[in-house]
Amino acid sequence: MEEASNGVTSGVRDGSSNGQSHRNGNGHSNGNGKGNGHAQSHGPAKTLSSKGMSGKGLSIDLGTANTVVWDSENGCLFNEPTMMALRFNGGRHSEVIGIGHVAEELVGRTHDGVEVIRPLRDGVITDLETTRRYLREVLQGVASTWLQRRRLNVAIGVPAGATPLERRALLEAAEEAGIGRAHLLPEPVCGAVGCGVDPLQPRAHLVVDIGAGTSEIAAFGAGGLLTYRSTPLGGDEMTAALLQYIRHEHQLVVGDLQAEQAKIRAFSDPSPSMVVEGRDAVTGKARIVNLSPEEVSEAVAPVTQEIISVLTGCLDDLPPQSVSDIMAEGVILVGGGSLVPGFAKKVEDAFGVAALPAEDPLTRVAEGGARCLANPETVEAYAFD
Ligand code: ADP
Ligand code: MG
Repeated sequence: MEEASNGVTSGVRDGSSNGQSHRNGNGHSNGNGKGNGHAQSHGPAKTLSSKGMSGKGLSIDLGTANTVVWDSENGCLFNEPTMMALRFNGGRHSEVIGIGHVAEELVGRTHDGVEVIRPLRDGVITDLETTRRYLREVLQGVASTWLQRRRLNVAIGVPAGATPLERRALLEAAEEAGIGRAHLLPEPVCGAVGCGVDPLQPRAHLVVDIGAGTSEIAAFGAGGLLTYRSTPLGGDEMTAALLQYIRHEHQLVVGDLQAEQAKIRAFSDPSPSMVVEGRDAVTGKARIVNLSPEEVSEAVAPVTQEIISVLTGCLDDLPPQSVSDIMAEGVILVGGGSLVPGFAKKVEDAFGVAALPAEDPLTRVAEGGARCLANPETVEAYAFD
């Protein structure tokens, strides 16, 4: 893909528009795990099919909320919630009922012996065995035979702030799921590459990735990460903040799923107000309220401010030349959480540079991972050992 003069291509839309722990560029972590929200689908997911795999290179974005698999030639092969439904047959033995949308359908509808699991928290593995099973299920759809999986050359996105132990766990899960060769690449870099950036060029770039359970910023260029910051705050906390806001400002009780849908609709629904259904906090009766995108922006502001204040810290680490590269280009925004109303504007205010929201921010990391694979030099430069 040809690079535009600002170093970012058509993958980017025009710019403009509490009390938590964080990780910094030294890889130190004092973050805690948090509760999970709900994932949602993003456009029609393609049916898993071995026909879709070109064999040239496959990229997996194993996100807290969504898993995206991208083939370097054939594009998106899988884009579904990172969820797995298990049926326990007494004792510790369980069988996989389904993953992705199939598992999501069962949330809140499970009966005895059935459990829906999210294998990742804050972008990293919490349970090796579950993640291995999940990855195997995802891969089986794309590469159904053991031999096909052994031949795979795969890029897997990993948070820039993941610890060596967390990265090891992911590699082990990939190996045990049958992947022949797996390269772990920093997710923010993949996101920017998915927007058309060439990460081997000397010019520095800055990219923000707002996921469901974690947010990261990374500056990179000339074949290396310059600095990064991570915080275990993301779209899930924004949903929680909106739920609280609706409860306090409108005395309406809504569930996690309704709050998340309202948050997402604030972006996709062009009308000045949308209807949210819930129960009256006092009478318990069903009631609706009208919510505007401005209110959604206000409700999530404490979370977005906190995220941004952690992320802006990375500017202090950068040499002046890199800062001027970034001033000239702007900040690339990827990850579903970056779509929340008001986010791009807050980034612009805090960083003092233009925000460059990605066109399809939920799939850019996977696409970028596949593009990285096409160039062994890029893999060599950015893959974690
Ligand atoms: P992850 O990489 O952690 O799986 P994603 O990049 O897939 O995360 O983004 C998922 C998050 O983005 C969820 O918290 C979801 O609620 C949020 N999200 C998705 N679409 C929108 C939208 N239009 N507006 C606001 N938040 C959104
Ligand atoms: Mg992500």
